[in-house]
Amino acid sequence: MTRPSSQEGAAESAQPGISSARRLVVKIGSALLVDDSGTIRREWLDALTDDVAQLMRRGTEVLLVSSGAIAVGRRHLGLTQKTLRLEEKQAAAATGQIRLAHAYQESLARHDITVAQILLTLEDTEVRRRHLNARATLNTLLRFGTLPVINENDTVATTEIRVGDNDRLAARVAAMLGADTLVLLSDIDGLYSADPRLEPDATFFPEVAEITPDIEAMAGVAPTGYSSGGMVTKLVAGKIATGAGCRMAIANGRRMHPLNAVEAGARCTWFLAAVEPRTARKRWIAGSLKPAGRVTVDGGALQALRSGKSLLPAGVTAVEGRFERGDAVLVCDADGNEVARGLAAYSAADAQRIKGHKSREIEAVLGYRGREELIHRDDLVLS
Ligand code: GLU
Repeated sequence: MTRPSSQEGAAESAQPGISSARRLVVKIGSALLVDDSGTIRREWLDALTDDVAQLMRRGTEVLLVSSGAIAVGRRHLGLTQKTLRLEEKQAAAATGQIRLAHAYQESLARHDITVAQILLTLEDTEVRRRHLNARATLNTLLRFGTLPVINENDTVATTEIRVGDNDRLAARVAAMLGADTLVLLSDIDGLYSADPRLEPDATFFPEVAEITPDIEAMAGVAPTGYSSGGMVTKLVAGKIATGAGCRMAIANGRRMHPLNAVEAGARCTWFLAAVEPRTARKRWIAGSLKPAGRVTVDGGALQALRSGKSLLPAGVTAVEGRFERGDAVLVCDADGNEVARGLAAYSAADAQRIKGHKSREIEAVLGYRGREELIHRDDLVLS
């Protein structure tokens, strides 16, 4: 047993909890889902998906980022040695992922929930065009009421383009989708001043307002074995998530019904987000992206933008620069003054062709059916 810290009581009452989440990402570590013999722990998985189903019934949008492909698959290939080469891991992931997906599908079918499998690489969350695609697909899946189950695309990702661990992947997914809550289910119940398995007197932190260098120093080094994470990657994930306006919890997933347990007040560490996800995304668009072009809009479009609407091609009078889908562009009025910035849903070449056209004409002009907006309001910030 670890000694509760003095702040625990006070902080617990202020903890945000899971029930208030609108969009929740839950990361499930291999060590929780897969036993030492490489078998999926079905009873535990069923208990977890019971919790997920309950949250979804209450209107929370849920996405799972699940590890376990390699841990499951290596057994089938007889890869018993402790460390695997990259291509062996990839082969293990290929055989494990399909089993993992089946297990999720079966477990969630008990609740009539449709599971959607998404395998992502680093580029899908980083390169803006791919980021917009992955984001649009995931948003669509959520709109259809499905449960996306996400893993890294281990079979194709080589070392340079790997996220590397699913703590980070989960944080990137949370940031990409503007999730407000991320829960990392782990074999530890939160952040301690030192590894509590080695130092039973370590102080527990129920709440972290900011991940400072002092906090990072507490994380130590990653353990070996099935889970690639450890506290270091969890804090990296925490920085990505909280920076994107998403609060994050590290919670013990060893118990049955781990999400219900957190809601019921089980010990966990909450990393607080300073801003709302929407605000964080808008800051990112406004501040960190270099505009690759500019579009000029007419008075009607300007008015629409100022009242919070998206920019439609109909209101665009000129397109300049060389930008691709997903690049940042400036939006200017007829006098050349910047009025907004946003991420273009079309390349400069396509924008040139659809400018001045009604959205329903886009398909006829371009030969494919893209977005109705040139810049969606979620991707637009007024200057
Ligand atoms: N993507 C890996 C797998 O499914 C796990 C990575 C991780 O656990 O961080 O086996």
